Amino acid sequence: MCVDCHGLFFGGRVTKGLCPDPFFMKRHRVVLDSRTFLMEFSDGKPKANTQDGWRWCNMCEGMFFAGRNNGVCPFGGAHDPEGSGEYRMTFGFNPPTSGNPFPTQFRWCFKCEGMFEQNTANPPILAPGGRPFGGSPSNGPCPADPTSVTGHSDDGSGLYLLRRGPPAP
Ligand SMILES: [Zn+2]
Ligand SMILES: [Zn+2]
Ligand SMILES: [Zn+2]
Repeated sequence: MCVDCHGLFFGGRVTKGLCPDPFFMKRHRVVLDSRTFLMEFSDGKPKANTQDGWRWCNMCEGMFFAGRNNGVCPFGGAHDPEGSGEYRMTFGFNPPTSGNPFPTQFRWCFKCEGMFEQNTANPPILAPGGRPFGGSPSNGPCPADPTSVTGHSDDGSGLYLLRRGPPAP
């Protein structure tokens, strides 16, 4: 998970893709306590409460839903799924706890097809430099709509539940 754009990306390559922020053209960023999540491959057999058709983009490193089209990549044009396997996402709600009353929820953005972390806190958490991550709730910058204040959109999206992985390398 990128600490700047709140997007789900593959961090295993040194290049770290590209963060969809129009003001700072830079790589996705992981810090020591960056969270990692376990991905599951599709076995081609539809399974209840899951969604197949997710792919990895070899340019921006982001995860996106390729079931409609290849969305919009921060590099311009569509995401490029070449070399990607097919991933399966599971639907689910991240429940609030006493220690974390506004847990993040994972959503799909219909504008760029990407998976992003929606912060349900209000007022929204500020990005470095004081700009909000999107509006309220804050959604992070969307490559399909880079000047939008609200960033990614959760319109039409279900809630996704990602399983935590080991600490970031
Ligand atoms: Zn990023
Ligand atoms: Zn991309
Ligand atoms: Zn988006």
